[in-house]
Amino acid sequence: MNILVIAAECTPFAKVGGLADVVSALAKEWRAMGHFVRIVIPKYGTISTDQWNIKPTQTILSVPIGWWHEYTRLWRGQLPGTEVPVYFLESRDYFDRAGIYGDPEGFPDNDRRFLFLSRAGLEVASAIDFVPDIVHAHDWHTALTLAFLKSHYRHHPRFIHTAGVFTIHNIAFQGQSDPYRILPLAGFPVENFYGSWFEHDGAVNAMKTGIMFADKITTVSPTYAREIRWTSAGFGMQPYLNIRGADFLGILNGADYSEWNPETDPHIARTYAIERLYEKDANKQALLEESVPPHDRALEIPILGMVSRLTAQKGIELLLGCIEQFVRAGAVRFAILGSGDERYERALRRLGRHYPSRVLVYTGYDASLSHQLIASTDYLLMPSLFEPCGLTQIYALRYGTVPIVRSTGGLADTVAEYDPTSGSGTGFLFGEYSVAAFARTIERALQYYRHPVHWDRIRRNGMQQDFSATKSAQQYINVFRWALEKIGGTVLA
Ligand code: ADP
Repeated sequence: MNILVIAAECTPFAKVGGLADVVSALAKEWRAMGHFVRIVIPKYGTISTDQWNIKPTQTILSVPIGWWHEYTRLWRGQLPGTEVPVYFLESRDYFDRAGIYGDPEGFPDNDRRFLFLSRAGLEVASAIDFVPDIVHAHDWHTALTLAFLKSHYRHHPRFIHTAGVFTIHNIAFQGQSDPYRILPLAGFPVENFYGSWFEHDGAVNAMKTGIMFADKITTVSPTYAREIRWTSAGFGMQPYLNIRGADFLGILNGADYSEWNPETDPHIARTYAIERLYEKDANKQALLEESVPPHDRALEIPILGMVSRLTAQKGIELLLGCIEQFVRAGAVRFAILGSGDERYERALRRLGRHYPSRVLVYTGYDASLSHQLIASTDYLLMPSLFEPCGLTQIYALRYGTVPIVRSTGGLADTVAEYDPTSGSGTGFLFGEYSVAAFARTIERALQYYRHPVHWDRIRRNGMQQDFSATKSAQQYINVFRWALEKIGGTVLA
């Protein structure tokens, strides 16, 4: 099968969150299964072409925008360790700047930047002589690709038998824009806008557009699929998901265990395996030596870790609401790596200054440190308000780091409550979104820390879980075949 992936992020080149990991993990798996994958992402100013051996090609794409054409040079690299080609769109106007989305508020021209990506992505197929069976678009950034596929490119010889699949990684971000600005640039009439597949609450809504134009729609966990269809977690998209209900399903994200494996991880101080779990402590020791003054390095104190974007979605309020109560009681340490909202960064840094050996705070984005924290901490906290899938808890499980999570979205699908009577389960969950419920769950989880039998059991249960991308890649292929059947296409390979 020929699969053209158009996305705003792809690990390791450009990553803000799980979207990037999923795009690259799926592509690797599809390639290993014998499919042909091409990925298109922007050439952001922060991507190091030297580090990843990304080279300019001779190809300049001419991309129709409004009544004119805009031009972009194609650069080419590969997903490290694979033969999957990745194409990068160079544009001084749109992408050659620091940052991917321009957090926290977003760049004012994001609508136009991603409109360009959505259109240019399809043009890449012609430039590299690729005939896609599937165009796979991700989140609002590339949702308009699906509208283009079904309109301007519908009779294009390269796309006549191409099905469009849209994957929702986070429905909270929908890409609203002014119809009078964006539709003319996209080449769609403004006159028919109200009540159209583009419109929600009087604005162009890229998320709705993707949902309505795609042949099949997926999201990143079965529980999140139910939540966004039936509850306010759908942020207004519920009616459209219901209209498309027969074409919509949740596929649990998978982890790339070649990147996230405690037995081989080059980022961590000491590699370890399930039968050498005691060696995990060497990582904790290394973290303490690095970050804590010598008089307070007791290894027996459990470390509660967090690696997260610092946004309201991630339940940072709950963490801030109870962190001091635990630190004052003296029984735990926290180690938090995150970046995002300034108010959260400030609050965490203040706690870090106040309790320098008990609240270890690292602000910024640091891929290597994220591996180290997941390996060196005892528990991983994810008290998310909502969580489409969440990858961090999946990584934590593989590293024998016990997740304490709110039972929502993919967290509910990947973490099972530990049951001391049967010895089953992999972590600790709570339902009510409150500081009290979160704090009670942390207390419940801490009770097992000093019981070697239970403690080992929970960690081993977690390490034995298999949430590999191999499984989800196969499920995507099934959806792709189903999409092709729907449009009456066939695929030979
Ligand atoms: P989301 O996509 O909502 O951010 P996920 O749990 O699905 O949440 O994915 C988050 C990914 O980003 C994980 O790979 C996690 O390790 C990584 N990550 C989050 N914050 C940071 C950070 N500050 N530094 C390094 N990696 C981070």
